[in-house]
Amino acid sequence: MMALTIVTLSYSQQKTLTGFSKEGAEAEFKLEENFDRLLTPGNLDQWMKRLSARPHHLGSAYGKSNAEYLRDLFNSWGYDTQIETYKVLFPTPKIRILEMTAPTKYVARLAEPPLKEDATSGQTSEQLPVYNAWSPDGDVTAEVVFVNYGIPDDYEQLERLGIDVKGKIVIAKYGASWRGIKPKVAQEHGAVGCIIYSDPEGDGYFKGDVYPKGAFKNKWGAQRGSVQDMPIYPGDPLTPNIGATEDAKRLDRSEAANLLKIPVLPISYGDAQPLLEALGGPVVPEKWRGALPITYHIGPGPVKVHLKLQFDWKLVDCYDVIARLKGSEFPDEWVVRGNHHDAWVNGASDPISGLVSELEEARSIAMLVKDGWKPKRTILFCAWDGEEPSLIGSTEWVEQHATELQQKVVAYINSDGNGRGFVDVGGSHTLETMVGEITRDVIDPQTGVSVLERKKSADAVHSSTSKEKKEVLAKKNLTISALGSGSDYTPFIQHLGIASLSIGYGGESDGGEYHSIYDSYDHFKRFKDPQFEYGIALTKTAGRATLRLANAEVLPFDFKTFQTTLSKYLTEVITLLDNVRESTEIENQMIRERRYSLAADPAQKYIPPAAKDAVPYLNFGNLQNAVARLERSATVFNELPATGSQANTHLSQLNQLLYQAERKLITESGLPRRPWYKHTIYAPGFYTGYGVKTLPGIREAIEQRNWKEAQEQIEIASQAIEDFNRQVEGVNKILLLR
Ligand SMILES: [Zn+2]
Repeated sequence: MMALTIVTLSYSQQKTLTGFSKEGAEAEFKLEENFDRLLTPGNLDQWMKRLSARPHHLGSAYGKSNAEYLRDLFNSWGYDTQIETYKVLFPTPKIRILEMTAPTKYVARLAEPPLKEDATSGQTSEQLPVYNAWSPDGDVTAEVVFVNYGIPDDYEQLERLGIDVKGKIVIAKYGASWRGIKPKVAQEHGAVGCIIYSDPEGDGYFKGDVYPKGAFKNKWGAQRGSVQDMPIYPGDPLTPNIGATEDAKRLDRSEAANLLKIPVLPISYGDAQPLLEALGGPVVPEKWRGALPITYHIGPGPVKVHLKLQFDWKLVDCYDVIARLKGSEFPDEWVVRGNHHDAWVNGASDPISGLVSELEEARSIAMLVKDGWKPKRTILFCAWDGEEPSLIGSTEWVEQHATELQQKVVAYINSDGNGRGFVDVGGSHTLETMVGEITRDVIDPQTGVSVLERKKSADAVHSSTSKEKKEVLAKKNLTISALGSGSDYTPFIQHLGIASLSIGYGGESDGGEYHSIYDSYDHFKRFKDPQFEYGIALTKTAGRATLRLANAEVLPFDFKTFQTTLSKYLTEVITLLDNVRESTEIENQMIRERRYSLAADPAQKYIPPAAKDAVPYLNFGNLQNAVARLERSATVFNELPATGSQANTHLSQLNQLLYQAERKLITESGLPRRPWYKHTIYAPGFYTGYGVKTLPGIREAIEQRNWKEAQEQIEIASQAIEDFNRQVEGVNKILLLR
């Protein structure tokens, strides 16, 4: 108790605000107090009830109704609001058949039953059935192989066991990677079909009581979701790099590089168990076992299944709601705040819990305006459509308005589903200081300490080593994570180089409702955030980000926090290369000395790995020098007083340089084999999907043992960091003048 009190005291004593003068900060704190006072949890509740009352996926009648309802809400508060409509490809199922034809017969049910405890679960005529969007049409019959999570490591194991998936249908568990990676890797290995099931170990009875008794997945619950190859490019597959307007030039579907070739279907563990139970072949490695009461086997066979899928490949309307509040001093500097409004089914948690927080933020800011306050910069509140299939609404909007957005957007602030628990922020590390100050100033509704201290406590407790624990406790700021993908920030940060944040709360409200018909108002009110306390905490957190970015005299970017993080990433990739070299040497020795074969059970089939090429030394010199120069300029930046009530002469130029800095981190050519992704520091992994790869060009080339490309990517990243450094030096020059 004592320690906490001291911590709180020391905060209030030194409560400064980056980017604000002393008077500016006082006015800002006052404004935020008024903002907080306006926040009403009942509004979130009422809007959630309305927006999740019926299924509202992309292209649905209720999705359109929600977009119009949102537009009218924003307009009623005084925002200048438009719906921007795109015409986008969106496949929905016509035929879904999965049946086991040998050794016994079983026809998969492929449906989640309505429950009397869940009022919206019976809206069957409007629900999208359980399916993976962007699976191609297909009709295949083949033997089955169980591939664990279906990630590259699992196929290595299969190779050791002498099991080939060529011509087979694989069955993989949900988890360990984004779902779209599973069919992608299966396809690369020659499989003809892919089934993804929810093992109870992931989000079923192994985790807690199942719905409706508890929050977790019941026997027939299944996870819808996209399997578009989004690490290539997201959005409408027919219009990469351009907005999918009515008259846009479209690719033929066969030309879209982000569409898979083998049929994919997600199923429940109720439907998976008969197949897994009947599989023969070797027993799986220990780590592959799930929580079903069976002995897991790999196959192939004797299980044979017939998988037939057919989709309606139609263009539908995609409705983005864009609400504007014009800035009084810098109308051409925009702060953009967004959350998607489409769901797979009713989507109370994903995405409505985040959207209602954004709505309350917009409503309260509008009330402050009615009271006479004006934001210096323009604020845009956005509600995106088509996020679930592949970030369509945000991507098409960003692609259509790219030039203007690159000029004007100061930062993009994203949220998505929200729940009870700990604050989680990912984003550009130039904004880490601002995030630290915000989380210092928002109070956790359950414990009364700042959300920063709550998060730090959880991080310290869950750190595995004493060294990590020490680091967490010693750090004043919140550590923000790097952004991979999985929500609407992707086009902003990774395509255009706009500094972005993604903010949410969670960790104490886990369940198995994700992308199922049970993600409902009833489920949310019982298991997620019944009083919307964390909905309000999100409004306070994201609202402060919006308000501070809109009001700051000098935009609160911090190049020192960015450089510190970048230096860590650089050390990581250098260490990665050393580790790969060391492991290659020892592996090759063990292969030469037949160690693997001698360690294996001679009674079972075992194929030793093949020797790998030796790992060369790469020249990191240019990159190390670029980072060292940045370290010097960022240190100077950190020591210069950014704000002061004096000279405003260069303010506008200074702010432009500050928010344009992130653009320097993108390259026109983009990443190898996926030029849509242009950021040299952050990208979703080619083989992880949502999971981030930092310094992605270098890191992935090393992981793929492509040494020539790794060296090329080192030079490309060096150039980007040199450009970024020149921008920081430009900022310093102005700060010295002031
Ligand atoms: Zn979502």
